[in-house]
Amino acid sequence: MGKFYVTTPIYYVTAKPHIGHAYTTVIADILARWHRLKGEKVFFLTGTDEHGGKVEKYAADAGKSPKEFVDDVANSYKFAWDSLNISYDKFIRTTDKEHEVAVQRFANLIWDNGDIYKSKYEGWYCLPDETFIPDSEITDEKCPYCGRPVQRLQEDAFFFSLSRYREPLLRVFDENKTFLMPKSRYNEILNRLNDELKDLDITRKSVKWGIQFPPSPDHTIYVWFDALLNYISALGWPDGENFKEFWPADVHVVGKEIAWFHSVIWPAMLLAGDISLPKAVLSHGWWTVDGKKMSKSLGNVVDPMDIIKRYSEDAFRYFLIKEKPIWEDGDFSEKALVSRINGELVADLGNLVSRVLTLASRYKGEIAGDIDLENADIDKISSLFDSFDVTGALEEVWKFIRSVNKYINDKEPWKLEGAELGRVLNNSLEAIRVIAILLEPFMPASAVKIREQLGVRETKFSDIKLSTFNGSVKRGENLFKKYD
Ligand SMILES: [Zn+2]
Repeated sequence: MGKFYVTTPIYYVTAKPHIGHAYTTVIADILARWHRLKGEKVFFLTGTDEHGGKVEKYAADAGKSPKEFVDDVANSYKFAWDSLNISYDKFIRTTDKEHEVAVQRFANLIWDNGDIYKSKYEGWYCLPDETFIPDSEITDEKCPYCGRPVQRLQEDAFFFSLSRYREPLLRVFDENKTFLMPKSRYNEILNRLNDELKDLDITRKSVKWGIQFPPSPDHTIYVWFDALLNYISALGWPDGENFKEFWPADVHVVGKEIAWFHSVIWPAMLLAGDISLPKAVLSHGWWTVDGKKMSKSLGNVVDPMDIIKRYSEDAFRYFLIKEKPIWEDGDFSEKALVSRINGELVADLGNLVSRVLTLASRYKGEIAGDIDLENADIDKISSLFDSFDVTGALEEVWKFIRSVNKYINDKEPWKLEGAELGRVLNNSLEAIRVIAILLEPFMPASAVKIREQLGVRETKFSDIKLSTFNGSVKRGENLFKKYD
């Protein structure tokens, strides 16, 4: 029996869950559910990233202590993931004691290995806010928080000798061409890595809300360095049973903006700690909203809870995966969502289930007979999942749904009777049973509803074949609602 370890990034608590977070998390959930279906042992990790000067700042603005602030935001993520039916095995928070201990242990380890040295960090500093601000967030030498002028300032900092790992990382990229997916991102990061690799400051003297750096306790560990270690601390590194069983990760699912951190900095850290590397990093594309970049100032941030309430968690999950290839950027609009609900969920799937079950519940004869319907292409679906192409896999499942609709239209069972009707009903019900299994990773709630109406329980991978129907049909309400 295989194992499968899949992670999402831990989400930074300065933002509430939005469509981008939901997207990454749904992809990871689909992969986790697929591998469970195959009978593998799965560990699915998600969580929140809770340290850093920015969090201190946001908490102060909200009139809360950092701890109260991060507790509230962590809860809003848990609530969103429960509402989206996310089947995570562990929700890690970087303020968890076990995580903090593991991070300090790791810092000590690579300090002892000689991979950390003391130097000076220079950056933009806002004096009233007592905060260093990344170059990328500065425009016109003004503080993004308070608008006052910032100044260049230096402070002591400890650096991780990242540059030492440039050659080993180039070898990793060379030996594993799917280490980072898609290929375009792989090439982009490889080019950057070929250019140069600078050492990285990993401590802050001015930030109090962070994990103490043991070799020099007046410093805290920089939030990125702290956060990346969640993938092993969550498993109980170095001695935990889960670490022994599940590490290395089979895939880290991330957005493209953090591909560099996950395919360069994180592997370099692991090499420094003499820990094996993840097998793959999947870096997906972004969402725009109504054709525009999503931003707080435009007020077009899509709240997953809002979509789930007005439509359903499955409609949202379906849309996210079906609307665009996972490697590419795509656009969210309610118009597009409604069009997929009406045109695909209602017209292809909902109607199929409803008309077959209506016919079957009226039929009093024996439901049995030869199979004259081609099954879904399981090999193709499996191989698409192996390359993490969840959009392609869903497309393939949908092809099957459409072929079953065509089968019914061709056979016109409403004109049949007796054994011939029993046979067509058997094949149609069996096809719907298979569809429910195949849809389980994508739309788990709908899969349950279909199984209930069919009166069947199987959800095993080996049950994905057409045979003799042995459920007991109980026509229920429509799976999906049509919208104007
Ligand atoms: Zn300021």
